[in-house]
Amino acid sequence: MRHAAPILAAFALSACLASAADGLTAIVGASVVHPERDEAHSVDADQTVIIAGDRIVGVGPAKTTRVPRGATRVEGKGKWIVPGLVDAHVHFFQSGNLYTRPDGVDFNAYMPYAKEDARNRARLPATFKVWLANGVTSVVDIGGPFWNFEVRDIARRTEAAPRVVVAGPLVSMVDRVKLDLGDPPIIKTTSAAQAVDLVRREIERKADYIKVWFIYRPGDDIAAQEAIVKAAGDAGHAAGIPLAVHATELVTAKAALRAGADYLVHSVEDAPVDDEFIALMKKNKALYCPTLFVTMGYQYAFSNTWKATEIEARRGDPEILAMMGDLDRMPKEMIPERVQQRMAAPPEVKPSQTMLENLRKVWDAGIPVAMGTDAGNVGTLHGPSVFREMALMQKAGLTPLQVLRAATVGGARAMRMERDLGAIEAGKLADLVILDADPTKDTDNLARISSVVKGGKAFSPEDLMKSIR
Ligand SMILES: [Zn+2]
Repeated sequence: MRHAAPILAAFALSACLASAADGLTAIVGASVVHPERDEAHSVDADQTVIIAGDRIVGVGPAKTTRVPRGATRVEGKGKWIVPGLVDAHVHFFQSGNLYTRPDGVDFNAYMPYAKEDARNRARLPATFKVWLANGVTSVVDIGGPFWNFEVRDIARRTEAAPRVVVAGPLVSMVDRVKLDLGDPPIIKTTSAAQAVDLVRREIERKADYIKVWFIYRPGDDIAAQEAIVKAAGDAGHAAGIPLAVHATELVTAKAALRAGADYLVHSVEDAPVDDEFIALMKKNKALYCPTLFVTMGYQYAFSNTWKATEIEARRGDPEILAMMGDLDRMPKEMIPERVQQRMAAPPEVKPSQTMLENLRKVWDAGIPVAMGTDAGNVGTLHGPSVFREMALMQKAGLTPLQVLRAATVGGARAMRMERDLGAIEAGKLADLVILDADPTKDTDNLARISSVVKGGKAFSPEDLMKSIR
């Protein structure tokens, strides 16, 4: 890392790993965490991890694992190594600030959406760094403008960036005209033919997912909606592309699964999941992403009670953090009525008990779960919001190891890179996080990052953050 003055051991570790990225590196004496294993066998103490180029080539007891000749030796004593985290639900077209969803609350009078949109595009290199600085080495952007395909290209050629897979514009039941600046992230389709037409345009761009925004309102013809979801899903499946669906009610979630959904990108939030739902998930081998925090983020932000956590203050994008206090400065006449009301009587913000219970039920049924924040939505910051999300998953009753499994094994599945990601073992990509505390004791320890390694290249969180200030 070039940018910064040396900082403690993290710097030394990063510097060693970085300089040896094209050669051989051996991290010696660390505890290696295996989130894919059961609790009793999840941590192997005193291990040596050998990295060659962008791959892990060996993992074994330090006593018996020979450090190859010429390898750079890095001290791992007192450290824990986990696979790089995956956020399975993000949106790069959104920033997390107040202005990023004018279709929800419109601040155009204060901040034109076109300006916010341009800022988000220009800010991409910083947004990438913020993800890495929080130990997240892969993200799934599960829907945005056609520009999303460029985001993926830019990430691929940027060293300090997570791996990025993308969906294109959402095949939607409703439109969102306020988000349409010529390349809308959400496109209303009223027939199967329209849906298929949009999906074909996304297939041309090699979409990693087809995403449907299944919005059901009382009076809607849910059978007709299901037919649109199925048409979109079938068209994607014919091209080998999986179907991700936003369906937050039990009735729409089941309809989405009947229509072939491979990935439910949110919790079921209106009712307890039932046996039929579990059976449909199993039949499709579908993945479940709880996104427990995102609605709370909106509630905090639009009542002006959003406060950065300690880790957000250090590892959130400073530009966005500064904007989170804008309601204190904004002329009152520019604050939408609804927000003024919420500021006058802030709601009590708490997680949905139904969503917490549903996560536990889904987990206990053996359904694969991926950790995802829906980052970019108002109040849910790119990067450090993973710690808010994982704390809530722990609150739902998952053990820290189970939360880590969702964020790594489940994430690898969401990335469709199970062969390459999700474990610390020979043959996998060298995407890992070196921690100063045991993450199987508390998910918060996942924030105690010494160094982040992506594809064999090491970064220190402090250096990454300094480079974007
Ligand atoms: Zn989303």
